[in-house]
Amino acid sequence: MRKRCTIERFNLDQMKLETKDKFNKELPADPDKNNTRRQVFESCFSSAKPRVPSAPKLIHVSKEMAAAIGLSEKDIQSKKFLNVFSGKEVLEGTEPYAMCYGGHQFGNWAGQLGDGRAINLTEIDHDGQSWTLQLKGAGETPYSRTADGLAVLRSSIREHLCSEAMHHLGVPTTRSLSLMLTGDDVLRDMMYDGNAAYEKGAVVCRVAPSFIRFGNFQIFASRNDEKTLKELTDFTIRHFFPNIESGTKEGYIEFYRKVALRTLEMTIHWQRVGFVHGVMNTDNMSILGLTIDYGPYGWLEGFEPGWTPNTTDRQMRRYRYGQQPGIALWNLAQLGNALYPLIEEVEPMQKIIQEYQDQYEISFFKMMNQKLGLEKMTESHETLISDLLENLQLSETDMTIFFRKLSDFSKDSNLNEYKEIIQSAFYKSEEITEDIAGKWQTWFVDYQNHLQKEDLPDAQRKAQMNSVNPKYVLRNYMAQLAIDAANNGDYTLVNELHELLKKPYAEQPEQEKWFAKRPEWARHKVGCSMLSCSS
Ligand code: AMP
Ligand code: MG
Repeated sequence: MRKRCTIERFNLDQMKLETKDKFNKELPADPDKNNTRRQVFESCFSSAKPRVPSAPKLIHVSKEMAAAIGLSEKDIQSKKFLNVFSGKEVLEGTEPYAMCYGGHQFGNWAGQLGDGRAINLTEIDHDGQSWTLQLKGAGETPYSRTADGLAVLRSSIREHLCSEAMHHLGVPTTRSLSLMLTGDDVLRDMMYDGNAAYEKGAVVCRVAPSFIRFGNFQIFASRNDEKTLKELTDFTIRHFFPNIESGTKEGYIEFYRKVALRTLEMTIHWQRVGFVHGVMNTDNMSILGLTIDYGPYGWLEGFEPGWTPNTTDRQMRRYRYGQQPGIALWNLAQLGNALYPLIEEVEPMQKIIQEYQDQYEISFFKMMNQKLGLEKMTESHETLISDLLENLQLSETDMTIFFRKLSDFSKDSNLNEYKEIIQSAFYKSEEITEDIAGKWQTWFVDYQNHLQKEDLPDAQRKAQMNSVNPKYVLRNYMAQLAIDAANNGDYTLVNELHELLKKPYAEQPEQEKWFAKRPEWARHKVGCSMLSCSS
């Protein structure tokens, strides 16, 4: 008994995070300390304490993320870890807060939104990197509007697994440290069809250098509050764009340019791996170009530019796969409007919008060339790529399998070898008419011609292709299987998928079962192909 106490105290003392708050120290605070829902003016944040969960239980920790912030295996197992990252205990010397932001939702200005269920615990420094730790689902804040500030297990598993998977895919993203059950039930109408039911409540600890969004700037611009807008912009530049000189018109223009470039880069990565964000509202756009807010996202199975997983967006398909780069640009234009009072000149901002468009063409082309294992870039490559994008839509063709298997085809392959590649990616072979088969044959003849003009040795080309075409992604049904098991108290699959997705580009032959097309049962299943914003 005595020994146990000693070990516990030892573990407790272990967890040392070097806290160094900046956002809530350097920016204007809401003077009202009450946790009541309201409009908050001339302030970047309001204080908000996490809700104490009734029976917190740790489900999963990303050890890589823990190590990145300086936490050891022992720390993870400590009571302190459970308490702090479930919201039960506030770290000494810290002052948790919720951020004030606005946003355009589905194209319309929505006014003040803010961290309605996200509470920033603190910022920490480790190994020269600064991180903000944020609990999602830890209760209401002044920005909760009509909702409860909570999150359910299913959406928390989706956020936890996907943000780590995206990191390992090399896609800029917010991260996830931990996933905990709160022990409290949460009422949700999952498909907004009048069938509300209780689900298990959960909390995720999200981590990022900063959670500042486009909407943080928009809220002040919308209220003609130039003073706070300037303070927030100077803060962002000072801490996250240190090479830019703040306080000058040129500096603000350069800041806008850098944000545009980062946003573009992130979007190209999404297109590369087949990720569909689902809710690209301006409040869900990180100023650092990180993928943020994993809600009704999904992964392309069949290559379908018109696809969106978000049933709330079923009519307009505003946030469909093929439109993501265009929506990112629309969002950047809104950010431009918000920053305009600091710049007061339209032309340089328009130039940045134009640069985005020009650069998009170049970056997309380059990315597609890499997916095809081609180094040369000529006009004939453009035709090769556009023909491929058309072919992929002729019948339902699995994007991940197609590109991954493509590296098996070489300049010396017997032409017929292409058939094996496409057949393993086709969902319904009975859909393949003679016309479709002919188009594929023509494309592979053209592709082989291009391969023959390349200098890269085969093995190198294959390795290069396999480093941009993942073998394993978090297919929608995979997350759902993990959720179904977890709802029954079995977390093995959460762990297994987390491990698998740490090496998305490696072969992992023992995990071949996840390198497979979506099973038929998942085609129209809620959670697999249909997701709402309810989370
Ligand atoms: P989202 O569509 O998830 O980006 O959320 C849009 C806004 O609604 C943000 O301000 C969120 O903080 C807020 N929000 C979403 N879900 C909840 C919830 N359950 N409780 C309180 N606020 C929420
Ligand atoms: Mg959001």
